[in-house]
Amino acid sequence: MFGAIPTRPLFEIEKRLLSREGQWLVRTREIPELGPYRSRLEAVEGLYRHVVICTGSLRKQEPEQARKFVEHSIAECKEPGCQLCSDLLALAPDSRVVQLKA
Ligand SMILES: [Zn+2]
Repeated sequence: MFGAIPTRPLFEIEKRLLSREGQWLVRTREIPELGPYRSRLEAVEGLYRHVVICTGSLRKQEPEQARKFVEHSIAECKEPGCQLCSDLLALAPDSRVVQLKA
């Protein structure tokens, strides 16, 4: 859905994620410690969403798509074949998935 963004080197996931006391935080230019998130994958989602919003990419989306994106949670998503979930997993292939999918 927002396929152009994650391939950019500026994304720098490894440099931006930090783990503290069992929780994950994301360093961004705008917010020094975004989060906390329960898992690395959720932190990746938080970073992804932050970048999409800050770069203005969301404005180019249909309102319904934008709403889905903002409300999406990789930990709770139950949509089969969800594009956003697979994009996020591609960004963080080594993350252990703590999804509640049945
Ligand atoms: Zn999903």
